[in-house]
Parts: sequence; structure tokens; C-alpha cells
Amino acid sequence: MVGTRTVRRRQEPGNAADVVLGIESTAHTFGIAIIKGHDVIANITDSFTTESGGMIPAKVAQHHGDVYPSILARALEMAKEKAGIGIDDIRLIAYSEAPGIGHTLRIGAAVAKSLALRLRVPLVGVNHCIAHLEITRLVTRASDPVLLYCSGANTQVIAYDEGKYRIFGETLDTGVGNFLDTLARDMGLGFPGGPKIERLALNASADGRTPILISIPYSVKGMDVAFAGLQTNMLHKLKSGEFSKEDLAFSAQETVFAMLVETAERAMAHVGKEELVLGGGVGCNKRLQEMCRIMCEERGARFYCPENQYLVDNAAMIAWTGKLMFERGGVRTAVEDAAIKPYERTDDVNVTWR
Ligand code: AMP
Ligand code: MG
Repeated sequence: MVGTRTVRRRQEPGNAADVVLGIESTAHTFGIAIIKGHDVIANITDSFTTESGGMIPAKVAQHHGDVYPSILARALEMAKEKAGIGIDDIRLIAYSEAPGIGHTLRIGAAVAKSLALRLRVPLVGVNHCIAHLEITRLVTRASDPVLLYCSGANTQVIAYDEGKYRIFGETLDTGVGNFLDTLARDMGLGFPGGPKIERLALNASADGRTPILISIPYSVKGMDVAFAGLQTNMLHKLKSGEFSKEDLAFSAQETVFAMLVETAERAMAHVGKEELVLGGGVGCNKRLQEMCRIMCEERGARFYCPENQYLVDNAAMIAWTGKLMFERGGVRTAVEDAAIKPYERTDDVNVTWR
């Protein structure tokens, strides 16, 4: 019928992608964001949580599959309301292709591919760890920082050097967030455990009480850190009934955060960079932020911390990094080649956009 036919706008030639839709699905969080230029217009997430017990990959994937239609609808609604942006204004789809849980990465990749085909726009696969660094460069004044990336599964000290984001130190076993989550689980608390440990640690000094710093292994090996031994040690201490949960939480935080800040400081000294940023959900922890700030002040460096919505897993960072890769790095992911890369490392990626 004349006048009612929908005309699909095709991607214009060249590298401009003003409006980008990003999708995050590497682990517990499913997110969709819409950015326009340098502005984040919508950044919607929904995270898998439990009352007790941890994450079961198939259940988390089920969660993502269930929430995706409403997250997409909310992101589009917000984009329309705040910036008059409709679905046909989207010029690029970016999705987190790596690293993460295969079950959940697959959900994000499937959504991304179907949207790219439906809208007939290009697709870019993004490394999640790199996206944490790029979003802090957008939303803080840091230009060439060292990133202390502290999330559930990942713990890395990352900085740019000669065409790659290189890892200067990392965990040799589990991520610091997983360590805190497991400690909380052992205490009978649910997922995510990090905020619960933070609250307990604060309570250790409630009502003017002096918290007890319990001696637990301090596990820095060269530039790397390890948490597995510490985890077992804490479980024994917890089971012994000798210590309060508050003092255990306080001591865990003081010890592991000191390990992280030490390696971050040595990386800064080694690469000669004078900016530190935090990334990852554990970065929401106020005590970790304070320790980073003190370390930077003492060495005359600058510390930047993005707001929580950009510290935790989010899709705005995927959209922004996809835009950089597409516009400045000439990166495209053909729909038929769009894959997931659960084990890709930060330093596997050639950084063509800096
Ligand atoms: P991410 O994987 O980057 O989204 O981060 C999730 C991790 O951050 C989980 O292990 C949470 O327990 C942890 N987390 C979130 N908030 C806090 C907090 N305030 N203190 C410590 N850990 C936290
Ligand atoms: Mg993360």
C-alpha cells in the first residue's frame, strides 16, 4: 500500500557510526546500551542473583534469554524519550565476544547477529576487558592510564604499549570478585558476595570498635597475585569459630586490596604512566578506591574512578569500544563469522584504533 511501506535506511559508506547499540553478556549481567556520539543515552542491565549459592552457567544463560526482550525494549524507549532515537537510527551493533562463560556469550552473540541482520548494519565483536579500559577513558579525564581491573572472574593490571593492551600482572587462579563471592557463600550469604563482605568489613569498626586484622597469607608472586590458598585459609578460619565474620571480612579486604594496589603501583612505575583507573565490579568497593587514591597521592599520580554503572559489567562500554574499533580501527565482524571467544586474552587483540 502506497505510503505505508517501511524504507530501511542502509548503512552509509565510510566509517561513521553515530548511533551504536551495544550488548553485554559475558557473565552474570545482560545489558543493552545505546550511545550517540560521545553520549551514553541508555545503559540498561539486569543481573543474575541468588539468595544463597553461586552462578550455574545454564541458569544464567536462561536468565539472559528471559530478560533480553524487555531490556531491549527499555533501552529503545529511553533512547526515544531522551534523544528522539529510533531503532532505524542505529548504525552499528557491538557485542561482547570475549572472554566469558560460553553459555551466556552465545545469548549476546545471537541477539547481536539477529539485530545486525534485521537492521542491515555492521557488527563488531568486542573484548570485554578492553572495553572496561576504554569506557574509563571516555567518562573520566584519564587519557593513557594503567587499569586495575577487578571483576568476578578477571583480575588484571592492564596498560597500553605498542599496539596492544598488555597485561602487566594478573591473578594466577581465581578473580578477586570470585574470591569475595566464595568467602560470602562460605559465610552463608548469597551472590554477589562482594558488597556483603564490604558491609561486614564496615561493621567491624561499628560503634567505635577497633577491627582486628587477622593474619592471612599475602600472596603476591612477582607481578601476579593468587587467591586460592587464601580462600582455603579463610575457610579454615571461618570454620574454627575463633573469629567474627566482621573481622574476617575486614582482614580479607585489607589483605587482598593491598596485594592489588601493590601490583598496580609497580606496573605504573614500570611503564612510567601517571594515571590509574579502576574497572570491574570490585572497583565499587570504597575501601579499594581509598587505597588506590592514597597510593596515587603518595607517588604524585592521578587516580580516576568512574561511577558504578561503568565499573560493573555494562553494555555502554561495549558500544563505545565497538564504535572506536569500527570508526578508527577499521574493524568489522561479518555476521557469518561472528563467534564467541570465551578464552581470548586482553593481549590477543591488536589495538588498531589508538
Ligand atoms: P563484574 O564481573 O565486573 O560485573 O563484577 C562483579 C563482581 O564484583 C562480583 O564478584 C561482586 O561480588 C563484586 N562486587 C560488586 N560490588 C562490590 C563491592 N562493593 N565490593 C566488593 N566487590 C564487589
Ligand atoms: Mg567485567
